[in-house]
Amino acid sequence: MEEPFLRRKLFEFMQEDRVKNRADFFETLPFEEMIDTLWYMDVKAYDMLTCKETLVRKIAMAKGLIPYEEEGDAPFAVDVLGKLRSTGYTKATLGFEYVCSECKQVLPIHFYRCPHCQSIHTAKIQTLLSLASHEENISFL
Ligand SMILES: [Zn+2]
Repeated sequence: MEEPFLRRKLFEFMQEDRVKNRADFFETLPFEEMIDTLWYMDVKAYDMLTCKETLVRKIAMAKGLIPYEEEGDAPFAVDVLGKLRSTGYTKATLGFEYVCSECKQVLPIHFYRCPHCQSIHTAKIQTLLSLASHEENISFL
């Protein structure tokens, strides 16, 4: 259970199976390795507001669940989004990219083995601030 990727995967499986997380599991998750998963997580799986971890709190701020607070370290985009939410701005959201720390290839989805250089566990999450897309803007046909 020391492997961050394994813990991330386990959390993802639990999400899919709609298993409610226990605090002693959630609190020990490798949050920095799963900012994307936390951003998309099912609110019913775990009450993230009970978690005191800075990164989790910053994500809750970015979601507009709790008031923005300056203190604490978080990826730039997460922090900026929290600040925007506190002003009532809702047109921004988070996006994610995954960079292989070995070959620097950028991929749109999380990976365990880099499809480019075959390295294992080299995905580094890049958090981006992006414009929230509205359904009417998706189709260009
Ligand atoms: Zn690679």
